[in-house]
Amino acid sequence: MDCPYCGYHDSKVIDSRNINEGIRRRRQCLKCDSRFTTYERLQPVGLFVIKKDERREEFSRDKMLTGIRKACEKRPLPSGTVDQAADDIEAELFHSGKTEIPSTVIGDMVMEKLKSLDHIAYIRFASVYRDFTDITTLKEVVDTLVSAESTASPSPGQLPLLSPENLEGLARRGRVKDRAKQPIKSRG
Ligand SMILES: [Zn+2]
Repeated sequence: MDCPYCGYHDSKVIDSRNINEGIRRRRQCLKCDSRFTTYERLQPVGLFVIKKDERREEFSRDKMLTGIRKACEKRPLPSGTVDQAADDIEAELFHSGKTEIPSTVIGDMVMEKLKSLDHIAYIRFASVYRDFTDITTLKEVVDTLVSAESTASPSPGQLPLLSPENLEGLARRGRVKDRAKQPIKSRG
């Protein structure tokens, strides 16, 4: 990097620190002693999406995020869930090492993600992405979801609302209450 003041080709690094995903270097010109700053950043690998009509378009996280957001609108998802989903898919895409990915593959990845997050969002996304033209296709998707839900065992992270111990405790308390309600026999 040439000195911006005198154009000399060499400088020394006097300070260097990591900033978000890059390195900031404070330099001093070896000729005129002027100080200047350079930033070193990793050049993101270009990722292109192959559209259905064969056109190539640079992958846009924002565009994907907009699609996911729309599908998840007004759904009871914890804040940050949608962004996390987009992050996960983006990371997966870049880690695949491919430079071109069909839009259908990305669509399927979003579908898979939404399926695990929220079924209504999943159906909304599918209706746009799969371009449902009739109610039969929609019904097929819903039926698949329903049958998957009935056969799936509850995920390990999900605890029953009331554990057997809790239920037992409630029952006990109920009995105690019943006893208290019994009329007290008058001594006589
Ligand atoms: Zn200089």
